[in-house]
Amino acid sequence: MPGFELFGDLERKEVNDVLNNGVLMRYGFDGMRNGHWKAKELELELQNTFQSKHVQLVSSGTAAVSVALAAAGVGAGDEVIMPTFTFVASFEAIMMLGATPILVDIDDTLGLSPEAVEKAITPKTKAIMVVQMCGSMANMDALETISNKHNILLIEDACQAIGGTYNGKPLGSIGDLGCFSFDFVKTITCGEGGAVITNNKEYYINADHYSDHGHDHVGNDRGAETHPFLGYNFRISELHAAVGLAQVRRLPKFLEIQKRNLNILQAALQEIPEVTFRTIPKGGEESGAFFNFFLPDLEIVNKVTKAFQENGIDAFWNYYNNSWHYIREWHHLKDLKSLYPISAELIKGLEYLKTKDFSKSDHYISRNISCLIKLSWTEEEVHDRANKMADIIKSVVLNK
Ligand SMILES: *Cc1c(COP(=O)(O)O)cnc(C)c1O
Repeated sequence: MPGFELFGDLERKEVNDVLNNGVLMRYGFDGMRNGHWKAKELELELQNTFQSKHVQLVSSGTAAVSVALAAAGVGAGDEVIMPTFTFVASFEAIMMLGATPILVDIDDTLGLSPEAVEKAITPKTKAIMVVQMCGSMANMDALETISNKHNILLIEDACQAIGGTYNGKPLGSIGDLGCFSFDFVKTITCGEGGAVITNNKEYYINADHYSDHGHDHVGNDRGAETHPFLGYNFRISELHAAVGLAQVRRLPKFLEIQKRNLNILQAALQEIPEVTFRTIPKGGEESGAFFNFFLPDLEIVNKVTKAFQENGIDAFWNYYNNSWHYIREWHHLKDLKSLYPISAELIKGLEYLKTKDFSKSDHYISRNISCLIKLSWTEEEVHDRANKMADIIKSVVLNK
């Protein structure tokens, strides 16, 4: 998946444009920049890529989630429903605003279970944060229905699903707001960077101001801008945006390679009766960033992952004991290890984490193996890898 694998001349040219005129900041300095507005240009490109009316670039995917929530008015006392399987950034971004993350189970899509979401709704629920993990998606029809029925925001974290689609729409463009990351390991990279997309003009203006200290960006004279409301600094730099501009132009090629590699891997493993795949909701198409499959139980998963390692198969994970992506090992969250005091309301709001049963999520995560799909593999290498993986799984299952 990572854009950094295919990287070079195009990125260097865009970055040199910025270095040659010396304006590393995305706003202002109009006279010095010789017409180069890399962040603005990238926002226009992304409007097209993500089929969204408005795009606000920010400094990271985590910033994108916080800015999206803030732009839609989510804050202290509000509850945001999010999945147990995601990246730690999801709860960080919610808690940064003083809101309470309400973790609920996933289903066989590896995304939010609509049933679990419905059960978790309270009068305090302000938003459902769906996370499109590993290049695919949750059951968006069902989640949209729930968000409409209860008049709750639907926000999409599509950081890991750049280029995936649902009923022809880019993932990220389905909810009220969508969030992307362009960190170093994402499908396209800026080094660090992120984006908020929305068709709602008010949310967009909020995101634009909020991510730059609340400056209203009216007129050309930065010193004279006023501040309709409070904000912070989540700006992207021109240098980072320049890298992203080159990368987004490579995205169609990246997606073609990823999907080719995914198909080869999937074809090799689908002959094995013990292997099953995550459900891709009807109308959905994966981005091909990852290849995910399920084995019958954790014991077999452990044997297979050990054999993969011994046979030189790299870049795969079982998330059950992983402290980055799955609730089981998020002790810093469960024990609220904060450097600074947290509000009494939030402490109380998170007490449920000590006792809530997440065995439904365990059922899927313990049996899952998730393989990163690299852009740099040749077709021959993918076939080779796929055959090796299939042989290993068959022999483990046979010897059980
Ligand atoms: C990478 C990622 C983020 C955070 O992005 P950063 O740019 O690293 O802050 C958020 N959510 C998910 C699902 C991610 O994979």
